Amino acid sequence: MNVSRLLSDRVQQMEESATIRMAQRARDLNAQGIHVINLSVGEPDFDTPENIKNAAKEALDQGITHYTPVPGLMELRQAIAEKFKRDNGLEYKAQQIVVSNGAKQSIANVCLALLNPGDEVIIFSPFWVSYPEMVKMAEGVPVMVHAGIEQDFKVDPAQLEAAITDKTKMLLFSSPCNPTGSVYTRQELAAIAEVLEKHPDIVIVSDEIYEYINFGEKHFSIGSLPAMKDRTVTVNGFSKGFAMTGWRLGYIGAPGWLAEACSKVQGQFTSGANAFSQKAAAHAILHEISACTAMRDVFLTRRDLFLDKLRTIPGLKVNQPQGAFYVFPDVSTFFGKKYRDIQINDADDLSEYLLSEAHVSLVSGIPFGAPECIRMSYANAEDEILEAADRIKAALAKLEN
Ligand code: PMP
Ligand code: GLU
Repeated sequence: MNVSRLLSDRVQQMEESATIRMAQRARDLNAQGIHVINLSVGEPDFDTPENIKNAAKEALDQGITHYTPVPGLMELRQAIAEKFKRDNGLEYKAQQIVVSNGAKQSIANVCLALLNPGDEVIIFSPFWVSYPEMVKMAEGVPVMVHAGIEQDFKVDPAQLEAAITDKTKMLLFSSPCNPTGSVYTRQELAAIAEVLEKHPDIVIVSDEIYEYINFGEKHFSIGSLPAMKDRTVTVNGFSKGFAMTGWRLGYIGAPGWLAEACSKVQGQFTSGANAFSQKAAAHAILHEISACTAMRDVFLTRRDLFLDKLRTIPGLKVNQPQGAFYVFPDVSTFFGKKYRDIQINDADDLSEYLLSEAHVSLVSGIPFGAPECIRMSYANAEDEILEAADRIKAALAKLEN
C-alpha cells in the first residue's frame, strides 16, 4: 500500500508537535526505568484545585452529561464575559464568546474562519509551535517577525510595520509568551496598536492563556484599547492558570460576526465542549482566582531558583522571563562542540544530547522559530528543577571544541 499517496498533502506537510513529541519520549524512557526529568511539556504539575473538582462532581450528580450549545453553556459564557470585564476591561456580550476544547481549538477555529489560500498571518517569533501549523492547515501563509534575546524576545513596532503587506489578514502572538516567558507591557502593546491603526483590515489574535502566570505589572489585553476592540480576538483558557490541562477548555472573546463563524466551524467538527467541565469552569472563573494566584507565587519561587542555578552555567545566555513557566536560553555557544563522537551542530542536537547524556527532556528552539535557543519548563517540583539544572550543567561541561 502506498501510504504517502493515501495520506493528504496537508497532513504530510504538517510538522508533528515538538512539545508533545518530547514529552512522550520522556514518558517512554521513564517507562523503561530511566529517570528522565521532564522539562519539555508546558503543563502545571499541580492538581486541579479541589473546589473546581467538586463543582464538576456536583455537575455530574445533577446529570449535566448531555450535549451543550456549540459555543458553550450560557452560564459559562456569562461568567467569561464577567471575567473579561473584571480582569481585562473588555466588554464582550455572552454572544461574542465561544468555548472550545482547549485554546488550541479556539485558535484553529479562528484560522479556519478567517483565512483564504495565500492570506498572510504575521506571527511574532519565537512562537508557540502550533501557530504556523494551524495557519498552514487553513492554507494561510505564516510570516515570522523575529525578536532575539537581545530584544527580550519582543518585536518592536517598526518590525511589525515592515512585515505588513496587502495580503496580511491576521496578527498572532502570545503574551505572556510561550516559549520565552516575555510579557508585552501596556506601552509596548499600545505602540503595536498604533501601527495596526493604519491597517484596519488586520485581525489581531491575542493569545493570553498565561494571563494568570504573570510576575510583573498587571496583565494588559490589547483588545481593551478602543481602536483595537472591534478587530481583536482575545484567546484564553483554563489549562495553565487553573491547572486544568486535561479538562480541555479554552475560549475566545471576538467580534460577533467572527464568534458566529467560529461557532459554525466548531459545529461541524466537534460541537460544544465537555458539559460538566464547563460547569466547573464557570465556578473556577468566578470564585477560584485565589488558587491561580497561589500557584503563580510558587511558579515565581521556582523561576528564581532555576534561574539562579542556570546563571552559574558557563556559556548559557538567559534572560529574566516575566511570565508563563518557561526559560528560553540562547545556547549557540555550544554549537560546533562535541563529546566523544556526539557532534552538536544545532539546538536539535543539543536537546538530543541533554536527553541521552543528562536524562533531561526539553525542547529545541527550532520549532519555536529560534534555532539558537532551547525551551525548559519549570512547572515541576523544586527538587526536580534543581536536579535538572545540575545534570544540564555537568553535561554541558563535557562538551569540547
Ligand atoms: N496557546 C499557548 C501559547 C499554549 O502554550 C497552549 C498550551 N498548549 C495553548 C494555547 C493551548 O492550550 P489548551 O489547548 O490546553 O487550552
Ligand atoms: N502548550 C504546551 C506546550 O507548549 C502543551 C503542549 C502543546 O499543546 O503544545 O508545551
